[in-house]
Amino acid sequence: MKKNITVIPGDGIGPEIVTEAKKVLDTVCEKYGHEFAYTEILMGGCSIDACGVPLTEEALATAKASDAVLLGAVGGVVGKDKWYELPPNLRPEAGLLAIRKGLGLFANLRPAYLYDELKSACPLKESIAEEGFDMIVVRELTGGLYFGERKTEEIDGVMTAIDTLKYDENEITRIAKKAFEIAGKRRNNVISVDKANVLDSSRLWSKVTAEVAKDYPDVTLTNMLVDNCAMQLVKNPKQFDVILTENMFGDILSDEASMITGSIGMLPSASLAEGKFGLYEPSHGAAPDIAGKNIANPLATILSAAMLLRYSFDMDAEADAVEAAVRQVLKDGYRTVDIMSEGCKLVGCSEMGDLICERI
Ligand code: NAD
Repeated sequence: MKKNITVIPGDGIGPEIVTEAKKVLDTVCEKYGHEFAYTEILMGGCSIDACGVPLTEEALATAKASDAVLLGAVGGVVGKDKWYELPPNLRPEAGLLAIRKGLGLFANLRPAYLYDELKSACPLKESIAEEGFDMIVVRELTGGLYFGERKTEEIDGVMTAIDTLKYDENEITRIAKKAFEIAGKRRNNVISVDKANVLDSSRLWSKVTAEVAKDYPDVTLTNMLVDNCAMQLVKNPKQFDVILTENMFGDILSDEASMITGSIGMLPSASLAEGKFGLYEPSHGAAPDIAGKNIANPLATILSAAMLLRYSFDMDAEADAVEAAVRQVLKDGYRTVDIMSEGCKLVGCSEMGDLICERI
């Protein structure tokens, strides 16, 4: 299969980790007979240096014209990098918002998986960690409280702030469909999280998701209240396969879910648009403190590339092969410094990439 991938190395450790992910994608091409063409674009601090803005219209158009986007990370250090003397809308991170909006990315996917070999990093009780977990949070990304009307005004002499939580049935339907499709590629189980005992938007959410569920007879749908979900994530994370939820609940729950894995350098993410298009990036940032030292953990970016194969290209076997290679490398005892533990072999960023390629 021939595909075009836009690659955004970005700032800090971005170029190092993206190089390793490309190496892995090239190995997949060799093994499975695909052809991936890469086009690099600038975003973040490097784009400010070269073009004066964190994302140019041309760069966005290039990304739009491709089949998928792979991103490293953007950003530097406030108080050190001159980018932060600029107004907020011209700083590196503004590129992220611009590309998400420009590409119409409305579904955010954050998997949280506990590797056997990294169980000691899990902050939960040993008996819970021992059971393991493998879930994905599907968060609506462009609606709800963060995008509703808001104002702060004085009403009868009292300062009052108002935020509006609004969802329409079309917004709920499209994210619910994504969640059911993803569940179909996993363990066929969706838990839809809301606050339907209080909020109208949640009652519409659960009504619409139940409607959508009828088109996916193989997938089981259960509803869970958000406060219960926050508790269940630390009490019994093994029960979750796909968590489907709105923007703000998803913001909080996806951070909680990643926290219980204990290792930030391992967590991929995806943001999807209508159809198959998506942007794939690690959950961590640009880590300027370790940039250029060849010590960054490239696994979150490599796992993001695996998500790209699975969700944008429908290459499930190829994605499985990359994920299995990551598990095998950990099993074989190789670790970058952020996940290093006694008795393991310490490797750098590029060596870790090579080790994954050898195992695909
Ligand atoms: P960060 O995730 O970059 O770093 C937090 C800590 O984790 C640091 O000690 C770092 O060295 C370590 N770390 C992160 N990724 C690692 C990896 N792959 N391997 C080994 N160690 C790793 O978060 P931060 O320090 O809050 O942010 C740094 C910069 O990144 C800021 O400019 C921030 O705005 C930006 N940022 C960008 C994104 C993005 O591009 N999507 C996301 C978050 C933060």
